[in-house]
Amino acid sequence: MKSRIKSHLNALARRWRGAWRRWSLWTALVVLVAAMLSTLVWLAGRYEASQVQSRLERDTADAVADIRAALTRNLQSLQALHAGDPGQLAWEVDAAELLRNRRELVRIEWRDADLRVRTHAQSPYRPVAWEVRLREGSQSDAAIACATARRLSSPAYSSSYFQPHGDGLGSEMMELCMPLTAKGRITGFLVATYSLHDVLTNLVAHNLTRRQEASFTEPDGTRLAALGAARRGSRMFTAQHLLDLPGTTLVLRMDSWHSAPSLFPNVLTALVTAMSIALVTVMVVLVRDNRRRLRAERDLADALAFRKAMEDSLVTGLRARDLQGRITYVNPAFCAMVGFSAQELLGQSANAPYWPPERVEEYRQRQAIRFAGTIPPREGFESEFMRKDGTRFPVLIIEAPLINAQGQHTGWMSAFLDISEQRRVEELSRASQERLQATARLATVGEMASLLSHELNQPLAAISSYATGSINLLEAPPAEPAGPASPAQAEQLRDLRMALQHIARQAERAGKVIKSVHDFVRRRDQARESVPAQQLLDAILPLVILQARKLGVRVHTQVEPGLPPVWCDRTMVEQVLLNLARNAMQAMDDPALPARVLTLRVRHAASNQHSAWVEFSVTDVGSGIPPEVAERLFTPFFTTRREGMGLGLSMCRTVIEQHGGYLGFAPHEPRGTVFTFTLPADPGTAP
Ligand code: ADP
Repeated sequence: MKSRIKSHLNALARRWRGAWRRWSLWTALVVLVAAMLSTLVWLAGRYEASQVQSRLERDTADAVADIRAALTRNLQSLQALHAGDPGQLAWEVDAAELLRNRRELVRIEWRDADLRVRTHAQSPYRPVAWEVRLREGSQSDAAIACATARRLSSPAYSSSYFQPHGDGLGSEMMELCMPLTAKGRITGFLVATYSLHDVLTNLVAHNLTRRQEASFTEPDGTRLAALGAARRGSRMFTAQHLLDLPGTTLVLRMDSWHSAPSLFPNVLTALVTAMSIALVTVMVVLVRDNRRRLRAERDLADALAFRKAMEDSLVTGLRARDLQGRITYVNPAFCAMVGFSAQELLGQSANAPYWPPERVEEYRQRQAIRFAGTIPPREGFESEFMRKDGTRFPVLIIEAPLINAQGQHTGWMSAFLDISEQRRVEELSRASQERLQATARLATVGEMASLLSHELNQPLAAISSYATGSINLLEAPPAEPAGPASPAQAEQLRDLRMALQHIARQAERAGKVIKSVHDFVRRRDQARESVPAQQLLDAILPLVILQARKLGVRVHTQVEPGLPPVWCDRTMVEQVLLNLARNAMQAMDDPALPARVLTLRVRHAASNQHSAWVEFSVTDVGSGIPPEVAERLFTPFFTTRREGMGLGLSMCRTVIEQHGGYLGFAPHEPRGTVFTFTLPADPGTAP
């Protein structure tokens, strides 16, 4: 009990460990895949963000380069205004023309060396309320720029400043001051005013500002002028680039709004996500598949355990052989039967160790026939095997072809039954049957003893009277004591011889009667032999006649001519005949019956001259058999007679059936019963 609980606990722990390991493995796999997928999505997002950022940086650098190039071009155009020392009017015309073409410029002034405005031109696009006084002030932005230009002897820019437009609005402006020189002397200045907003509008490529916002900012981040797209998206990307000009430095900043990195920022992320979904789906399918496989495995293990239990509990030996005759499987019952272990048997082909050495050749031939493809009989066949200790035992073998799952014939499966016990029981029952028959015979003899005494009385009485007569003859004095024999003497001697002859005959008769009983009781040879039907009748007739005489029954025998001898155990058949005859005579034991005749008849069965069977019938004209008796007629120990044993008919039927024949009865017309049985004709004499 304790060990059973322990093994049960062990099994539980094992199962739990297995389940835990399986689950932890699956969890680890799921966590890893999830981590990998989120890393991939994150990396894809980051990659895309970095792509956006670097594009923005590139755009900003491009925009700065564009602005720088345009400013340089403008510088050249401004210098061109003074080429060839133009008059004031011509300058104004050229300057107005230039302002029309370059929208980023809002005003151009020609100043003298003291920075006073000689003349100026205004952009036609944008009205600005300039205050000349302020502009000419020494602290004005233009003045600071010109001071720088003077110092550098090259064009210089001012820092930006806010210029109101007079209509409540205003914009950020920047001055460019270009010194005009003649013969190495500064003769004046050209001051051009840029609108920073227009710089962005006109000098930065439109495709750059369409998608993102461009602005000039101060180094501290204050926005000076801005241009660009409306804000879209959730995330802002920013790039800044310095635009350093002589005298000032501006910062160009570009802002871009992106929906990145949302869940599906771009194709890459979408791809990764799709792959992740596919991966998860595959994993789910795998898990399901795995679960199904586990279930199938468990079912299979159950089925295997069931099969194993079944095989182990079988008392029938099982053995499988492949088409080459090698043993591929044996069950425990087979091993126990032959006494060899499975290891000793598996793989054996020719000369299996359980074949008795003297029968190896026969068995090998049988095996060859089997492998040639003949199907063995369904009811099996008997054979003899040898145990490991050398003892032999009979087996019943039932063989069937082994067909695999693909329907191919792969070998033979044989089932073995150890029939030694069955044989022993058969032998026992045969012996007890014989004993029973002997008993029945002795019972018959017992019955006959009274008949015998009656029958022997006659010869014995005759013997004694003849003997007395003989003695009397011997004791009577001779008529003539001497001399040759007188006629009286001769007659005396003749009488004496006759009396002695009668004594001898009667003694012989008595001896015959006794011998017939003796023969009947003692003769017991098993063997079947060929016996003419007449001989069978002759053997029982003396005994039948004994009883017949007592009951006043006449006995008729009819033997069809040309009958073949029958193949039988003569003692047994004689007993059957005797039994039937006795029953018949007992049925006629009624003094009121007019003619009591017992007919014993032998003829061909089914009135066929060539029949292999011979039919015996015993007919009486007795009481007949009422139905309630007929039902139980062959039941052992059933009898209607007080002194009867009830074994006769049941034994008769057994004997006849052992010979392969049939025993039955039918009513006889006008009265009485016919008992009929058949016996095989001697096969040696069959036509
Ligand atoms: P037993 O002769 O010892 O009674 P049997 O088995 O020979 O046992 O017979 C069983 C019974 O069958 C008999 O008791 C008798 O009643 C009946 N029987 C057998 N043969 C005949 C027959 N020829 N006619 C009428 N009854 C019969």
